[in-house]
Amino acid sequence: LPTRADLVEYQQGVAGHDGTLCDVDGELFIKPCTPAEIAFYESSLAAHQDFAEFMPTFLGTLTLDEQQNGQTIEEAGAALIAKHTIPEVVVSTKSSKKIVTDQAVVLENAAHGFVKPNILDVKLGVRLWADDAHQEKKIRFDKVTEETTHKELGFRIAGMRVWQGAKAVGKDIDADGYKIYDKNYGRFDLHKGNVHEAFKNFMFAESAGVDEELGKLVAQAFYTDVCRIQEVLEGQESVMFSSSLLFVFEGDGVALRSAMEEASRSPATLQADNGDASSEEDEDEDTSPKIYSVKVIDFAHAQWTPGMGPDENSLVGVRSVANILKDLGSV
Ligand code: ADP
Ligand code: MN
Repeated sequence: LPTRADLVEYQQGVAGHDGTLCDVDGELFIKPCTPAEIAFYESSLAAHQDFAEFMPTFLGTLTLDEQQNGQTIEEAGAALIAKHTIPEVVVSTKSSKKIVTDQAVVLENAAHGFVKPNILDVKLGVRLWADDAHQEKKIRFDKVTEETTHKELGFRIAGMRVWQGAKAVGKDIDADGYKIYDKNYGRFDLHKGNVHEAFKNFMFAESAGVDEELGKLVAQAFYTDVCRIQEVLEGQESVMFSSSLLFVFEGDGVALRSAMEEASRSPATLQADNGDASSEEDEDEDTSPKIYSVKVIDFAHAQWTPGMGPDENSLVGVRSVANILKDLGSV
C-alpha cells in the first residue's frame, strides 16, 4: 500500500471554479466544496436512490488542510486510496479562483476510461441563484439569465471540449487535439435560434471519425438518459440552482465504433455506467470500453424540499435539452 497521497490538478474541467484535483490514474475527481454539497450527496444516497443513480458515484470526503483528526492529508489520502485500491496520488494547490473551504468531495471521475473524452457541461435553470444569495449576486445572475439561453430555454452551454482528431490544429484547439469552447461561447455566441449548433459541434466531429451515424446514436443514448432524469426530477421534491448536466462520450470515432460494436455483442453493457451496486462488484474486471455517460453535477445550492413540489426551474432546462437531443438523434 502507498504511504503517501498525491493529487494532481484536474485538467479536463470544462467549467466552474479552479482548484479541482484528480489522482494520477484519473479515477477520482476531487472538488473543494461547501458542507451543503456534501450534505446533498449524503441525503440523496440515503433516501433518493433513483436520483443518486445520476449523480457521480460519491466515494467520500477529504479535508484539504494540514490536519484531519490528527491525520495528515497524506494519511487521509492514503487511507482513501487503500479503500478504493487506487495506487498512487499527488497534491497541488495553485489557483486563483478556488472556493474558500477545506472540505472536498471525492467523486468518480466521469471522464475516466474514455480514450478521448468529449465533455459538455450544461448549466440548468432560468433563475440561477438560491434564496440565500446576496443581493449583488442575484442582480449579477439575473443579468446572465436575461442575456443568455437561460431565459427562454432554462439552460446554457457552460463549457465543452471536443476532440478533433490526432492531426488537428487551429483556433482554440489544444495540444491534445481538443477544441475548447470556454464560458464565453455559451454566454455570448449562442442564443435560442442557434444553440442546437453547440450540441451538433459536440456530437458530430467528422475529423475525429464521429460521423453522422455515430453522432446520431450518441444523441439517442443521451436523449434516453435525459428523459429518465426528467422523469426522476418530475417525481421528486427538490431544488437545485446552477447545477449541470455533464455529458461525456467517446470522442475517438474509431474507439467509439468498436465500443458500440462490443456492446452490441453483449447487450447488457449497452447503457451508461450509472455506478449501481451490481456493476461495482466486478469493477476490477470490467474493462469494457466506455461509450457515454450522463450525470447531474454541482450541488452547491441543492436541497430536498418535501411538500414544495418538483424543481420546475431546473426542469425547464432538462426538457429543452431533451428536445434538442431528440431532434439530433432522429433519422
Ligand atoms: P463548480 O461549483 O466549480 O461549478 P462543478 O461541480 O460544476 O463545480 O464542476 C466543475 C467542472 O468539473 C465541471 O464543469 C466538469 O467539467 C468537471 N466535473 C465536475 N464533476 C465531475 C466528475 N464527477 N467527473 C468529471 N468531471 C467533473
Ligand atoms: Mn458548475
